[in-house]
Amino acid sequence: MKIFNTLNNRKEEFIPIEEGKVRMYVCGPTVYNYIHIGNARPMIVFDTVRRYLEYKGYNVNYVSNFTDVDDKIIAKANEEGVSAAEIAERYTKAAKEDMAGLNVMPATTHPKATEEIDGMIDMIQTLIDNGYAYEKNGTVFYRTRKFAGYGKLSGKNIDDLEAGARIAVDDEKEDAMDFVLWKPKKEGEPYWTSPWGDGRPGWHIECSVMSNKYLGKQIDIHAGGEDLIFPHHENEIAQSEAANGTAFSNYWMHNAFLNINNHKMSKSAGNFFTVKDIAEKYPLQVLRFFMLGAHYRSPLNFSDELMQSAKSSLERIRTAVFNLSHLENSAKEVPYSSADEDFKKQLDSFKNDFEAAMEDDFNTADAISVIFEIVRLANSYLDSDKPLSIITAARELIVLLCGILGIICEQDNLLPDEDIEALINERNEARKNKDFARADSIRDELVKKGIQLEDTREGVRWKRI
Ligand code: AMP
Ligand code: ZN
Repeated sequence: MKIFNTLNNRKEEFIPIEEGKVRMYVCGPTVYNYIHIGNARPMIVFDTVRRYLEYKGYNVNYVSNFTDVDDKIIAKANEEGVSAAEIAERYTKAAKEDMAGLNVMPATTHPKATEEIDGMIDMIQTLIDNGYAYEKNGTVFYRTRKFAGYGKLSGKNIDDLEAGARIAVDDEKEDAMDFVLWKPKKEGEPYWTSPWGDGRPGWHIECSVMSNKYLGKQIDIHAGGEDLIFPHHENEIAQSEAANGTAFSNYWMHNAFLNINNHKMSKSAGNFFTVKDIAEKYPLQVLRFFMLGAHYRSPLNFSDELMQSAKSSLERIRTAVFNLSHLENSAKEVPYSSADEDFKKQLDSFKNDFEAAMEDDFNTADAISVIFEIVRLANSYLDSDKPLSIITAARELIVLLCGILGIICEQDNLLPDEDIEALINERNEARKNKDFARADSIRDELVKKGIQLEDTREGVRWKRI
């Protein structure tokens, strides 16, 4: 299996530290608002990597954090006149709902920064003790120049960086390249006590600490969006390697951006759709399918047109699976003809093609093309006169391969009519009782499952989308 390793800028054979096990850390979102579909890209991509590794028999320990203390969270809390903890809790819950809608498996551990402050203080103290950090008036800085490997991930040269950073030089720092590990408290901000006074951690330290605690000093894969390469991941390497005295992550994986009109989708630029916005219009399975239609290292442009086309492509797969299960009801086990034998061999070779695509740095775009080839062949070759077992084999293969990508393609997995109607009744009841939050959450839940509601004068109508 080959993985493109940002650290060495090339595809490399994947060799885990411990046979049969993978220790994987994925930088998670800062929870100050609903996640946008750009944030969903790493979630979907690395969940797919995890699913494939698990399919190959690895035991994957998957850690992904929630950054729940940060300037943006504090700003939002002040804006609303509530605590930072309340904001973080609200949007962590919302992010988890969105992840479930996208069929992103819960991580083995989802640590939160605010619950790991003690570990951060310990690591910062270690860095001070071994000369890699220093304190000035309540702020602790990392002594970047002391870490010889600085720049090895991003390919940046510290002197070039320094030239760019000089203008912004902060009086308290020894050097413009030094970055903050701990900052003193400000009025109205959450804080924790530390040997350097009350304050809160800088952003980068949390991932070094959580990765250490839940996965160990050395890990197999560290991942995130490509904007994290510098400075976040570069700083994580500096912190972890200086504190632990060992190499940090063996493979670094980064997804390219999700763009709109060829510009990065981001909250600060205001050109974003939240996952919840999209869930109003499409089942979130379509969003997942759309994202995996591109290689994770290629930029991906978002548009309604492309989503519509992803929707009909996914529908084609689902219809094929549905038709095959229908055929299974009428077909009988009859002796194989030589054409049937060939068909069966074709299925095996498609499975190999799918694996080859995934083992070439998780080329999900090619992997999806293989699924379409199976669908095409099954649609043209199979009918109720064919042996039952090859019809079953074709259906099971499509379901298996979609499942590795986290795509649900069996109609059986969709909500049955009675459940939909029960939820609609519950929603009507909630509206009668003026519990509009509950009513809305039922509507959201149904949309996520591909059910659209329409309120008419005659009552609520629903349809599958
Ligand atoms: P943030 O909440 O900004 O720290 O981002 C959480 C994750 O989403 C990080 O891995 C980012 O790199 C990633 N990310 C943010 N915006 C985009 C985008 N437009 N496309 C792809 N990934 C993104
Ligand atoms: Zn991180």
